[in-house]
Order: sequence, then C-alpha cells, then structure tokens
Amino acid sequence: MKILQVAGARPNFVKIAPLHRAFMQYPDMHPQIVHTGQHYDFAMSGVFFEQLGIPHPDHFLGVGQGSPTVQTAEIMCAFERVMRVEMPDLVLVVGDVTSTLACALVAAQMRIPLVHVEAGLRSRDRTMPEEMNRILTDALSDQLFVTEQAGMDNLLRENIDPGRIHLVGNVMIDSLVRFRDRIEDMSLSRQLGIGSEPYLLITMHRPGNVDHEDGLRKIAEMLEMLAMRWMIVFVVHPRTARNMADFGLDLQKWTNVKILPPQGYIEFLSLMRHSTVVITDSGGVQEETTFLGIHCITLRNNTERPVTVGYGTNYLLPDFNAQKVWDTIGKILARDSKKQTIPPLWDGNTAQRIVNILREKYIDSQDR
Ligand code: UDP
Repeated sequence: MKILQVAGARPNFVKIAPLHRAFMQYPDMHPQIVHTGQHYDFAMSGVFFEQLGIPHPDHFLGVGQGSPTVQTAEIMCAFERVMRVEMPDLVLVVGDVTSTLACALVAAQMRIPLVHVEAGLRSRDRTMPEEMNRILTDALSDQLFVTEQAGMDNLLRENIDPGRIHLVGNVMIDSLVRFRDRIEDMSLSRQLGIGSEPYLLITMHRPGNVDHEDGLRKIAEMLEMLAMRWMIVFVVHPRTARNMADFGLDLQKWTNVKILPPQGYIEFLSLMRHSTVVITDSGGVQEETTFLGIHCITLRNNTERPVTVGYGTNYLLPDFNAQKVWDTIGKILARDSKKQTIPPLWDGNTAQRIVNILREKYIDSQDR
C-alpha cells in the first residue's frame, strides 16, 4: 500500500511525524512525504524534520508564496503531477491549512481514497480560512480521524457516514509524548537569562488578530501592560513580524519583553513547559498546554477545540484587550488548583490506532 502523506505548514510536520513512524513498521506499507512548500524556511520547516526525525520529503512542490487562491491552485497542479507518477493507494492529509484542502481536492477528483487526520473540528466561524478548509476536506474524505468527542458530534450533524468516522485521539500529542524527556531536559528559559523567574509565553498568528492594525495595536498594548508585572517571552510568527513591521510597530522597546523568532519544536515546548501562563491564538498550543497542564489564555472569539476548555487548562477570551488579559491572568492564578484532565485517548498511541484502522479497512479486508 502506497500512501502519500501531505504536509505544508509547521503544525502539519508535528502531526505527520508519528504517522510516518507508525506506517514504517509494516513492510507492506510504503509511506511517502509530499511537502507542498507552504512553510519552507528552516525555522518553520527544516528544524521540524530534523528534530522530529522525519525523513527528507519524497516530493517537494515548492509552492511557497501567493494568496490562498493562488497557493491552492498551484498546489493542486503540482500535486496532480505527483499523483500521476506515484498512483498511490491512499492520500493522507492532516489539519486545516491550504495544502490540506488543495491535496484533498486532487485525491477526490482522481478517486484515490482520502484520509483526514484531525477531522471534525469546527469553530463555526467561516471568516477563518481554516474553517472552510476543515469543512470541505471532511466532506471529501473517505476516512475521518477525530481528536475529541465534539468533532464526532459535528461530523454526525453534517450527515457524514458514521462508519467512516473514528475517534482516535491526537497525533500532535503523540509527538509530545515521544519527545517529552528531551523537552523536560532543556531549559531555554535559563539560557535566555530568565532563570527561575515566572514568565508569560506569548504566540499570535491568526489572520483575525494580526492582519490588521487594530489587532496588532491591541497586542502591543497588552505587551506593554503585562510587562509592568511580568517577564514576557513573545515568540513571533513570521506573519506577525511582517505585519508589525509594515504598520511600524516596534516591540523591542520594553526591557521585560523578550522577542524571539520562531523556535524549534523542542525549544518551544520547553518554553511552554516552564511558563506560568501561555497566551496564544494557535490551535496546537491550546492542545499542548492542556496536555502539559499549563494555563492557557486563547485570544479568540471561539475555539474549534472545546475539549481544551471543558477538560483542559484553556480559557477562551473573546474581544480581548490589555485589561481583560491582565484580569484573566489574575483570576486564573488565584484559583487554588489547576484543572488538569487529559482528554480521552490523548495518550501517545493515536498514530498506531490510525494505522490499525487503515490496515483493517484497506489491507486485512482484501486478504480475507
Ligand atoms: N511551535 C513551535 N515553535 C514555535 C511556535 C509553535 O515548534 O515557535 C509548535 C507548537 O508547539 C505546535 C505547533 O508548532 O506543535 C503549532 O503550530 P502553529 O501554532 O503554527 O499552528 P496552529 O496549531 O495554530 O495551526
């Protein structure tokens, strides 16, 4: 069985790493990696291949720049060429980025069975490009692997055949479990000169927060206010950095705020592990903080990952401003204990569960 696994952007690499390893255990499964090139530099891509032990991609499509429409079209054309050469038995896509939908469309048009890992998540906010990618990819998929019960409920509500939906847990957490010792061993905060001082870790990159001046100013005001009381580590996504520069916003002016470029996986998780509170709009970071039991404040009006709020340590803060964030930190830290429940099946074995189901559906059933 030849499987083309598609990865294009940073969170995808964290998800395909455990899947690739799980496929490789079986001599009759031949996974290949197609890197679309959506994120292509070392900090957003290469370091993840290196640290997570992902082999060099079998195909690199080199589609880095352009509007989402241009990217979708170019990825589709390039991926179709790869499909014609490889003629895979399965195409596997993960997450909710442009590459996910573009390659899903090609697989569906060529009638190659399509597998979506991290299916069913819904923010119910169609202004998010990711939400369109999720809905459309799920509608095209033959097998849908889901991280949390809300995802199952969403897919059933959308009339997807229950026989194709599988609650298996979270492959992103598989990576975290596998590298936990290395994450624990590293102390980047010490290297940054923070020592044992409590600090807040901040990441922001959703278009809704960073693509307009208002959002960026609110982030700058938040940094200014929080820096009066806290040491802050702000790991700046390239999109946020570019937009801050375009709007002439300078983040380097507060001594308590350490501005860092995108970090490697182990480095970033180590910063997360030792932080007092994480402030973010990232999807994956909401899940990782829940697993690690680190307080997380999500600066968004919704989350497609409600289990992180219901079970985990995530606190959703809509329409944020500096004062609201300040108050929320106070409120969270005043609680006597952290609520920390790890969601069901987030145990490090999700990739293996996925491979077992795929074998049962596509290999074992043929042998019978
Ligand atoms: N991450 C990382 N370095 C960073 C920021 C994030 O390794 O500087 C990791 C993070 O721990 C998670 C993944 O990248 O595993 C999440 O990616 P991102 O926030 O870009 O995407 P999202 O999850 O929002 O789609």
